[in-house]
Amino acid sequence: MGYIILIVVLAVLIVGIGGTMLLRPRGTRGIARRRGGGDLGTGSGTGTLEREAPAGTEEGTGTATAPPRPATPAERPAPPEPALEKPPPSAGRMVRLRARLARSQSGFGSALLSLLSRERLDDDTWDEIEEVLITADVGVTPARQIVSDLRTQVKVEGTRTPDEVRSMLRAELLAQVETPASRALRTQRHEGRPAVILMVGVNGTGKTTTCGKLARSLIGDGESVVLGAADTFRAAAADQLQTWGDRVGAEVVRSDREGADPASVAYEAVSQGIETEADVVLIDTAGRLHTKTGLMDELGKVKRVIEKRTSVDEVLLVLDATTGQNGLRQARVFAEVVDVTGIVLTKLDGTAKGGIVIAVQRELGVPVKLAGLGEGPDDLAPFDPATFVDAILGD
Ligand code: GDP
Repeated sequence: MGYIILIVVLAVLIVGIGGTMLLRPRGTRGIARRRGGGDLGTGSGTGTLEREAPAGTEEGTGTATAPPRPATPAERPAPPEPALEKPPPSAGRMVRLRARLARSQSGFGSALLSLLSRERLDDDTWDEIEEVLITADVGVTPARQIVSDLRTQVKVEGTRTPDEVRSMLRAELLAQVETPASRALRTQRHEGRPAVILMVGVNGTGKTTTCGKLARSLIGDGESVVLGAADTFRAAAADQLQTWGDRVGAEVVRSDREGADPASVAYEAVSQGIETEADVVLIDTAGRLHTKTGLMDELGKVKRVIEKRTSVDEVLLVLDATTGQNGLRQARVFAEVVDVTGIVLTKLDGTAKGGIVIAVQRELGVPVKLAGLGEGPDDLAPFDPATFVDAILGD
């Protein structure tokens, strides 16, 4: 009888230990995939927190033999999911936000209009016009080009009504802002894989905010998005991105360790996007401009590692429009280390003078694709040259 009891006890212990081994979670270097609550048709509709424990931990064993311990954050009951927001589509946003643009830009436009409306346009007046353009961050070479074009037109056409002056200036500014390259974002899935967008730029320019706003806008346009929090050097960046993702149901792939390898987070994010058949994977990167070589190594590695799974479709450089020449210097450094495919100009609602659009496009040879026009979640718009120029002229 004693033998039978001993055998039963041993059997129970063996089954318990075996179960413990089977239940141990697979580790992935502390990288977690957290899902926002909505059903986007990408398998992210559970609204639960799904996190894999770092390798070598005992998290998740749950046997009777384990000593009692406080619940880990992953085990605590999740707070009720807030309702998902339904962001508006991106179309027509620049027109809707035009008033903000006008508030900060029209100073330069009205100064130009009043100078060009003078009865006599002598050399001093043309110099003043050039100065206004340079002060508005247009850059010396484009400013001279604009003055020379306008001078020729005035000479040919003679006297001008105020309407003619305005339309002449409008056409000239538009010619400077327009580019042959398309401003459309490449967000189409290809070869059965999601489109990948890398967001680069110096910290503080609005990179993380832009990732969040862009994810919202893509979701508003009916796409599914995975966000990769590869800015692992700024403690708050991953939390910031998580908040953006949670609001609209974009899955966020992040590391729980500050200073983790950005490339491995980017790799996991892209892998997750492929697995869940997302439309777009958007990756926020660290923007430490320590040294050019350091930046090159970091961004180069992120890109190389992603390319083990798929191609990078867009590298968007985020620039703070209020920083003028300093912003241009940053743009130059980034363009030397990575192939920038588009520019996002943030804070165009602020004290920015607008001319930077012309200067930066000329400097990098790539178009401004998006404009940041405020801190609100839907204050990011596809850049539209005509709306921009009309705002400058106060139309
Ligand atoms: P990061 O360090 O480049 O990731 O910068 P953040 O995304 O944290 O943004 C820095 C600050 O800029 C935050 O306070 C944002 O709200 C603000 N910001 C970002 N874009 C815009 C914009 O288009 N307009 C304004 N006014 N503020 C912005």
